[in-house]
Amino acid sequence: MIQILKKILVSVWALTVVCQFGVAVSAQPATSQQPKNIIVLFSDGVTGSQWEFGRKTSQLIRQKPFVVTDVVMQRGHFGLMTNYPANSYITDSAAAASAMSTGFKVNNGAISITPDGQRPATLAQVAKAQGKRIGLITTATVYDASPAAFSVHSQSRRESENIVNQYLELQPDLLMGGGAEYFLPKGLSGGKRQDGKNIIELFASKGYQIARQPEDLNTLRGDRLLGLFANEDLDFEIDRDPKEQPNLAQMTEAALKVLTHTSPAGTGASGTSGNGFFLFVENENTDTAGHQNDVAALMRDLWAFDDAVQVALDFQKRNPDTLLIVTGDHETGGFSPTYARKTKAPASSSNEIRVGDQQIKVIANFKTSLDELANKLKVKAKQGADQATMRSYFAELVKEGLPGLVIEPELENLIFENQATDLNSSYLPGNTLGRLIARQTGFYWASSGHTNQPVVVAAIGPGSQLFQGFSDNTDFAKKLQTLLGAK
Ligand SMILES: [Zn+2]
Repeated sequence: MIQILKKILVSVWALTVVCQFGVAVSAQPATSQQPKNIIVLFSDGVTGSQWEFGRKTSQLIRQKPFVVTDVVMQRGHFGLMTNYPANSYITDSAAAASAMSTGFKVNNGAISITPDGQRPATLAQVAKAQGKRIGLITTATVYDASPAAFSVHSQSRRESENIVNQYLELQPDLLMGGGAEYFLPKGLSGGKRQDGKNIIELFASKGYQIARQPEDLNTLRGDRLLGLFANEDLDFEIDRDPKEQPNLAQMTEAALKVLTHTSPAGTGASGTSGNGFFLFVENENTDTAGHQNDVAALMRDLWAFDDAVQVALDFQKRNPDTLLIVTGDHETGGFSPTYARKTKAPASSSNEIRVGDQQIKVIANFKTSLDELANKLKVKAKQGADQATMRSYFAELVKEGLPGLVIEPELENLIFENQATDLNSSYLPGNTLGRLIARQTGFYWASSGHTNQPVVVAAIGPGSQLFQGFSDNTDFAKKLQTLLGAK
């Protein structure tokens, strides 16, 4: 026992961080043991202003504590991480997740491959090498940038087929999300694979239970699961049909059952759960909502993420040898609830809109994502509807989906001309609709892209104190490698 403790203390003391000015600083020494299980809950595109918005709206509208802020941050340890990539100041999801997974900066778009071509081990590979079971969940396609960078390597995040091939090789014990199209050959139920392979069948032949519908998660059978609930990304929480797709909390619950399932000796390539697991749980929709400048979709997906954190927290309470980490990769959208003028007339107290409970209640009544509303418009336009029909259809969609909003002719014209309000608005008509919401509620956005804000990392459980303070996202990987016993 003393030997083990000594080893842990030495390995944690050895964790030093050399900052860019060449000064070596020691990370805080760990006082507790290495965690058996590690759960990384990852909300893409989210940092301080989104977490605070989740807290405020969950308390006001759901009348429920927001466990990320009210439990994990308040009772655990938290810090901030810079997230610039190797070749820019503003990161994309691939470069940020690669740094957090391998401890090396990579160029935007690369999946855990450094600019000089090295392929450092990913956290899922490190965990597997340490005898842990591994799981990846996302609301995006399972081969999307973040889960891919936490597990495999690829020159580009766009090489979906290649990433899926590497999953088949890595054999994560659990893989859940969207993206069936790159598991299926062209010509078979929306399949897009060029090589004619049916990867779902290949996973099944390796002993994986296959889940394609939420109800499949009610009959979990073994210790390996492939769950693909859509051909592409899973829907925003605000649009999701619970009969078609599970929510993030349901997937997390299922994952914890699968990863702790003890199989009879000799069956299942991963063996028993004796060594614990490494589980990565991502909500990608918080990032997509940021790109669209969609405040109502963001709110619902922050809550959905928080429900998954609650599931993980309950597990952590029952299994205190579990380290639970909540974080994100970068901020998306420059989310800025603020005050502004109602009209272009001079500023005055009567010409002011300011975010408060009343404005939050307006957006809480929204029933659609901006993306879904835009898709409906596109479908109608394809049917050859004329301008007048399109405009009255638009008015109907806004009335039903975004009740309380008044359509402003200036922005309506921009929408029908497919024009942006500014040069940093790349998602149309989502960003223009987002501006309409901002003008009438005060929920402004600075951009449709990523920003430089440091991301928050919060942790509870053994090793959580390592994540305190201001660091770089490469340190995240180094700390976890140490806690996994790899260094
Ligand atoms: Zn991202």
